[in-house]
Amino acid sequence: MARYIDSVCKICRREGMKLFLKGERCYTDKCAFARRGYPPGQHGQLRGKASEYAVQLREKQKVKRIYGLVETPFKNLFAKAERSKGVTGEQLMSLLERRLDNVVYRLGFTSSRKEARMMVAHGLFNVDGRRVNVPSYSVNVSETIGISEKAKENKRVTDNVLSAEKRGLPGWLSFDKEKLKGTVERLPLRSDITMPIEEHLIVGLYSK
Ligand code: SF4
Repeated sequence: MARYIDSVCKICRREGMKLFLKGERCYTDKCAFARRGYPPGQHGQLRGKASEYAVQLREKQKVKRIYGLVETPFKNLFAKAERSKGVTGEQLMSLLERRLDNVVYRLGFTSSRKEARMMVAHGLFNVDGRRVNVPSYSVNVSETIGISEKAKENKRVTDNVLSAEKRGLPGWLSFDKEKLKGTVERLPLRSDITMPIEEHLIVGLYSK
């Protein structure tokens, strides 16, 4: 699978907002975007007005990077959103939120989606008691997401769960801190996603 290997903080600077890609560091004054909130590179501060296409493209790149997807899986998800009933952009956001790696991150088991993806791929999570090692697995209503007994003892996981409280839990999920288990109470709505995302720009881009 293709991987992005440059500094991830440059991505935030290029997209002009904090994308929270580096876990705990993103909440400290070491955050590169907080210190240099302009695009990277020699001419980063000199860029002129972007075209309509450039704005749409940047929005798609931003969302791909928030959720850690490369082009093909993102496009496949968009095609699935188009086939679903409802507003395509909202369906796309809902499908992105329902990915197991995102849910693991949202529940607070990990400090970033990247860490969540790695832990899921290592088979440390189960859905309704069944081990699932596919980060793109799409969760459904009433499914429960638990962590393996071995990983439960991991200090990093317990630290993550504690520090995730400041991120808050989205309304469509619930979490049992004692059992370290999350439940999908309902499907995510567009209003559950608080990051400034303009998904209509992505729909416009793919409709060209
Ligand atoms: Fe982005 Fe700041 Fe986190 Fe780096 S530390 S990934 S710039 S939010």
